[in-house]
Amino acid sequence: MSRRWREHPARLAELEASGFRCRLCNDDGTESRLEVHHRTYKNLGNEHVGEPTTLCRGCHRLVTDHQRRLRYAGVPPKIFDVRLALENAPPLFDPTFKETL
Ligand SMILES: [Zn+2]
Repeated sequence: MSRRWREHPARLAELEASGFRCRLCNDDGTESRLEVHHRTYKNLGNEHVGEPTTLCRGCHRLVTDHQRRLRYAGVPPKIFDVRLALENAPPLFDPTFKETL
């Protein structure tokens, strides 16, 4: 977490408004560290009061995982041809490297 976000007014206001408790499980940070979740990145860097949500670390992971599943549910998996990638891959050594003994 950046110092800027740690001290951001929207983040601090949300912690205060939530009573320093997870909005989902009501933990006070004893069981799992409290974090402040971005519900939107619309105003990233200039977050508004009311946009972030206090969650414990465990709930934050659940929410983020759920949101990613929804976001990518309709995205077909990419077929990756490993053999073709290896054939066209750059060498695994640095050709400019000169060993000095
Ligand atoms: Zn929680």
